Amino acid sequence: MTDAMTADLAGRPIRVGLDVGGTKIDAVAVDPSGDIIARRRRPTGWGEDAVVASIVDVITDLAVDGGFASTAVGTVGVGIPGLVDADTGRVLHAVNLGVESLDLSERASAIVGAPVRVENDVKAAALGAAALRGIEGSMAYLNLGTGVAAGIVVDGAIWRGSRGTAGEVGHLSVDPNGRVCGCGQRGCIETFCGGGALARAWGRPGALPVRDILDAAESGDPTATALRADLFHGAAAAVRALVLSADVERVIIGGGLTALGDRLFTGIRGALRTGAEASPFMRSLQLDDRIELLPDGSPAAAFGAAIVGATTPSKEIVPHG
Ligand SMILES: [Zn+2]
Repeated sequence: MTDAMTADLAGRPIRVGLDVGGTKIDAVAVDPSGDIIARRRRPTGWGEDAVVASIVDVITDLAVDGGFASTAVGTVGVGIPGLVDADTGRVLHAVNLGVESLDLSERASAIVGAPVRVENDVKAAALGAAALRGIEGSMAYLNLGTGVAAGIVVDGAIWRGSRGTAGEVGHLSVDPNGRVCGCGQRGCIETFCGGGALARAWGRPGALPVRDILDAAESGDPTATALRADLFHGAAAAVRALVLSADVERVIIGGGLTALGDRLFTGIRGALRTGAEASPFMRSLQLDDRIELLPDGSPAAAFGAAIVGATTPSKEIVPHG
């Protein structure tokens, strides 16, 4: 646990962390010993005003669930998709939320009465996964959801790189003749193992298309079998990219596709083993032993957001409003 998480700031000991996704907010309240004392999910509103209102409402709900006063909230951290300026708390181009430009930190802190710190959702989840798994040293968090992205944590801090793109392995092209990616390239890792790309390639309706693909593959459907191979191949490529570029000790896999559970984990491990068969060098890296899957429904992303909030620079800890 970070020192900031254990500090009791002026009688406002509760840290709130919010993972704001395209459809729902997952929110946790964390006490000074680092334990989650309340957790709440609610739908995310669409558009800038609705996103701010949803955040304020879920904090109120958390206080009721956790049996604390809203005024006991010392810090709030928000993990949110899109382009996030972690210094100013401004969010740009969060298209899944209907947000074009939002001064989230300023607007939410004025209402909540506590500092609100904002971070990219995958980077926040990386921090949370490292803390929940008790990982010291280096790790990468690989988020397999609609898209594919990763965050790298070194010694308890996010490693951003020079322009904030460290860990963006989803857009590493591994096949120049592959499917066109939303980013404009062909054959990006995301086109192999992103839930959105797989659903488009599958082309059949369903609530959980990637689960349908695995089920159909097990029944011998050739299209599904090929897409299942793409999923495992793409995720294995992402793990290799993270370890070969940053030599992280562990790669923790999270995101919506973790709902597939052991089928996903076993498939990725198998692809890593197969890919290393011909290479004594790759075998020596033992990649298949260095990956973990977060349990479906893990609070890692919201917990990581609470850490983001708690590491607010002390000069900003005076409550606003
Ligand atoms: Zn791409």
